[in-house]
Amino acid sequence: MSETFVFPPAATASLEVVGQTERFPVHRIYCVGQNYAAHAREMGSNPDREPPFFFLKPADAVVANGATLDYPQRTENLHHEIELVVAIGTGGRDIPVDAANQHIFGYAVGNDLTRRDLQSAARKIGRPWDTAKGFDHSAPMTAIHPIAQTGTIESGRIWLTVNGELRQEADISELIWSVPEIIAELSTLYELMPGDLIFSGTPAGIGPVQPGERIEGGVDGLDTLVTTIR
Ligand code: MN
Repeated sequence: MSETFVFPPAATASLEVVGQTERFPVHRIYCVGQNYAAHAREMGSNPDREPPFFFLKPADAVVANGATLDYPQRTENLHHEIELVVAIGTGGRDIPVDAANQHIFGYAVGNDLTRRDLQSAARKIGRPWDTAKGFDHSAPMTAIHPIAQTGTIESGRIWLTVNGELRQEADISELIWSVPEIIAELSTLYELMPGDLIFSGTPAGIGPVQPGERIEGGVDGLDTLVTTIR
């Protein structure tokens, strides 16, 4: 007999997959903090002494490409962070670096939207970042591009514009922890599962977005992510 519920369970968060009708069901959203040296420095950290680290967003924070989002509650300093996102297709624990690419289903472009004022306040007093990072609609993303089509992504331009003005630009090869290293490290902390998404970190140039502005961002070989704030 199948389980019944006291009310209908929430729908599974999911994303389009390029070239097929089946969708990618989102399990968890992991994020890497300060994984580009120039961004770590702009956040007041020393990348030579402090390694990157992880935090999470809820799975239902994902927002489809092309969306218009209300300016979020409880912030006066909403920031953009363009990132290469890795979609896990095969789970595992203690995954070796040299086997990590076999666990990748595909890649996408994501924006790790951040309530920077709440994050700065939390950082000052050593409190968690959840309200700054894991809020509703905080993870706009493109469709997932299967790795079978893209091949492994180890380099290529990553960029973001606001109303056409270039704000962030770097190369994926500048990641402090490469994608295989991220997967290996993360799998020693959590059992990775099919459906996990990993935001790999943002390059320097983070900054505010205002109501009415249009954010575009991309990574070579993947769709352009377009999000409008209202
Ligand atoms: Mn980020």
